[in-house]
Amino acid sequence: MRTALVWFRDDLRVGDNPALTAAIARGTPVVAVYLLDEESPDVRPLGGASRWWLHQSLQSLRASLDALGIPLVLRRGAAGAVIPLVATEAAADAVFWNRRYGRAERTVDAALKLGLREAGLHVQSHAASLLYEPWTLTTGAGQPYSVFTPFWRRALAMPEPRRPLPAPAGTAGTAQSPQSETLEDWGLQPSAPDWAGGLRAAWQPGEQGALDLLAEFLGEKLPLYPEQRDEPAEDVTSRLSPALRWGEISPFTVWHETMRVRAAAASGHPGAEAASAFLRQLGWREFAAHVSFHAADLHRVNWRREFDAFEWPPLDPRALTAWQRGLTGVPLVDAGMRELWATGTMHNRVRMVVASYLSKNLLIDWRQGEEWFWQTLVDADAASNPFNWQWVAGSGADAAPYFRIFNPVLQQQKFDPHGSYVRRHVPEWGTPDYPEPLVDLGESRRAALAAYERVRRPA
Ligand code: FAD
Repeated sequence: MRTALVWFRDDLRVGDNPALTAAIARGTPVVAVYLLDEESPDVRPLGGASRWWLHQSLQSLRASLDALGIPLVLRRGAAGAVIPLVATEAAADAVFWNRRYGRAERTVDAALKLGLREAGLHVQSHAASLLYEPWTLTTGAGQPYSVFTPFWRRALAMPEPRRPLPAPAGTAGTAQSPQSETLEDWGLQPSAPDWAGGLRAAWQPGEQGALDLLAEFLGEKLPLYPEQRDEPAEDVTSRLSPALRWGEISPFTVWHETMRVRAAAASGHPGAEAASAFLRQLGWREFAAHVSFHAADLHRVNWRREFDAFEWPPLDPRALTAWQRGLTGVPLVDAGMRELWATGTMHNRVRMVVASYLSKNLLIDWRQGEEWFWQTLVDADAASNPFNWQWVAGSGADAAPYFRIFNPVLQQQKFDPHGSYVRRHVPEWGTPDYPEPLVDLGESRRAALAAYERVRRPA
């Protein structure tokens, strides 16, 4: 009997997974494969925190697939070589996957689709990780959007995103499973030293963990979201970003569950406004993917090319290390950087502050900060991370104007007025053990403005 092969990528879930559902619907046995591809050209290798997350999430996916009678095959190598091989070993006559939107990944997928079809296999791809595929929204002039507000207005004027698919039932028959590597073979988890203790305490990777977070958010936190979502000491945001990045939860599920809560709130009830505010944040995720789809190499190349003329001073490695370790002498910056190192995440407001401090007070190229986030965030996302870094640095789409330099002291007064967040992560704050400020905030601000001014009005 022939088999259907499902290639899992950024969609580590069985619920609302169109590729999996379509494969099961064929009525043949199904084999799943996950490929650790560190060989295809230009596919960005995962950072350390992402590798840790992937290990846990694949364990969870394997358990869910087991319950459906579907074996999960783990392999390493370049997709172009390994996927056809696994298809042959599984005696597959059809291959299913959900689409990816990065340029390098699309190149890999397009070539593979062609090759598999030429070899006589049926290949089918689906939309699963974005509410609006990047080419489906265009301006009146048929161009991609470069400003968020009209982008989101257009999105909201489109037909409502489709409903999530019902959970799949088991498969017909059992396939003969190709050889699989083990997760342990891949060495995704840190060992010497094991720096992941804080990550283990903070997160439950996998589909069930994601559904639990969504239920908790909608049930308890949503009404507080509009008022308190900028306060890093409060735990009122969804914490769904890693689950969305890895596709452990579908944005369609998030959308419709949120709309259900919104509909349940009587009109005029604050819940309705809160739901819109939350969905708007999901809109920023969509916008980042849209911008990244239409721009090459967002993590390397300024989206606004006039920023190529910006003269970054020679890198001061001492300053970069102080920023990475949370030893700059600026309490909110240090708290954020230590939160990141300890837990693999950082509150959004504080991400903006630390990014502004690195690129505008320390005058360190935003790419250095983006790379550190890429290594340390559990939600490190190939579109959202560089998009947001460029947004803060001023070189990105719909970016903060270059002269908007967050003052970390005022930001702390406004968003952490009692210092609860800072003290949680920087216990020695206010004692002689706490470092002196690395740079003078006023002076460094003036230097940054002068440097940016030279880009705006070249001599
Ligand atoms: P919520 O407030 O609950 O928001 C719901 C969802 O909306 C999030 O889970 C996320 O998927 C999306 N979202 C919210 N804000 C943004 C945003 N500004 N851009 C894109 N999507 C957004 N987010 C990532 O997912 N991956 C990254 O690599 C990443 N890097 C960032 C780097 C910088 C410098 C900055 C300023 C922001 C970055 N963000 C990134 C966006 C944002 O900080 C996180 O998505 C957010 O903190 C996640 O917390 P939450 O899930 O509780 O968010």
